[in-house]
Amino acid sequence: MTTQTPARSNAALFETARAVIPGGVDSPVRAFGSVGGTPRFITSASGARVRDTEGRDYVDLVGSWGPALLGHAHPGVVEAVREAAWRGLSFGAPTEAETLLAQEVRRRVPAAERVRLVSTGTEATMTAVRLARGATGRDLVVKLAGCYHGHSDGLLAAAGSGVATAGLPGSAGVPQMVAAQTLVLPYNDLPALEACLEQRGQEVAAVILEGAAANMGVVPPLPGYTAGVRRLTAQHGALMILDEVLTGFRVGPAGWWGLEAVEGWVADGQGGPVPGSTHSARIWPASTAEASWVPDLLTFGKVIGGGVPLAAVGGRADVMDLLAPLGPVYQAGTLSGSPLATAAGLATLELADDQVYRAVDAASAQVGQVVSEALSAQGVAHRVQRAGSLFSVMFGDSAASSGVHDYEGAQAQETWRFAPFFHAFLREGVALPPSVFEAWFVSAAHDEEAVEAIAAAAPAAARAAAQ
Ligand code: PLP
Repeated sequence: MTTQTPARSNAALFETARAVIPGGVDSPVRAFGSVGGTPRFITSASGARVRDTEGRDYVDLVGSWGPALLGHAHPGVVEAVREAAWRGLSFGAPTEAETLLAQEVRRRVPAAERVRLVSTGTEATMTAVRLARGATGRDLVVKLAGCYHGHSDGLLAAAGSGVATAGLPGSAGVPQMVAAQTLVLPYNDLPALEACLEQRGQEVAAVILEGAAANMGVVPPLPGYTAGVRRLTAQHGALMILDEVLTGFRVGPAGWWGLEAVEGWVADGQGGPVPGSTHSARIWPASTAEASWVPDLLTFGKVIGGGVPLAAVGGRADVMDLLAPLGPVYQAGTLSGSPLATAAGLATLELADDQVYRAVDAASAQVGQVVSEALSAQGVAHRVQRAGSLFSVMFGDSAASSGVHDYEGAQAQETWRFAPFFHAFLREGVALPPSVFEAWFVSAAHDEEAVEAIAAAAPAAARAAAQ
């Protein structure tokens, strides 16, 4: 970590930023809106730690919202980016690195027979939806309440009751006509999907779902749910889009698909903890024949770019080959497959071996346990919900007794406990994602020392949550 003289306080930087950047941030959740207080302006990061402008270090559980699987500024990744930078920042022409990265994605996830690189997860899901529409000639998309797929107009619709409804815009500026093309259904509810597809299946181009929902806190699919989505979409001629932007290459070498469909990871029906949440054997599936279900399209982001903007859409060759220049579905990007991003992505995936996934699993289990023990010691009803190495804490009796399975349940928890919990952790030098609805991200760099620091901070945080 480079040392830097603290030039200005977090508060001063935030004030200056707000005068020129809406809300002072370039992505809303960074503003600490739901927890209050002043966001930390980060000057450097290394391993499991980030340093703010005031020179304070924090054990980081944000992990850049997912990419930092190896920890921050892994020397192997930094060196690869540095070398690539000297060769040129961007060419607007094909490079071999793009092919190598696409091959690596296919090696890990054979369901991705073809891969197109883009720059953000939002682009990846937007492209997947356009492809599904192009492939089926249908307009409607089914999304599940509480799942986040980026900020494209049609996928912001998150509102919806327990039945299929025409989506309401989840944001000002989304035309009603666009929102009406998205049907929002409750997560983990196969009968609702079945009823919706019975009624409107002929119009549905795709059902899109996160590998495991991790944007309403972590809500793993109930046993049989994902396979059920596969069965129903196939029955009705709709495509299944598995959004692995967050889970891909994080929960295992082949992402959520590898974990659930190949390795057979199942939730315990209560949102975790889950048998098999640590891996006995790493899964590098050689072909889709080893899987119990296979999505038509998958989207990747975050880890695939190792901290530099890069994402991808992959899937069935016949569908992917509908993309321009081969087919009629247009998609493009000035900086797609950027040499810096492919260098970071390739280095990250090359380094992300069995040992890394085991380390992430172990750190995740330990952090979840020390936090849970501290909360229990203070009598705070809670549940650590888990999907592989991803987890988050849900507060309240109902979450504690039966787990959270959908967006309604996630919203019904004792959300007010989170802000004091978060700020106590921050005071003690541990940075959690600043919202109760986010997953906690550990990395292979979260070693014993980092876990001990979290364990030392947890009692104060638990006391704050108890009040
Ligand atoms: N899909 C999922 C599951 C995500 O978690 C996210 C971002 O958090 C996205 C898509 C959007 O990715 P990006 O922020 O890179 O546009």
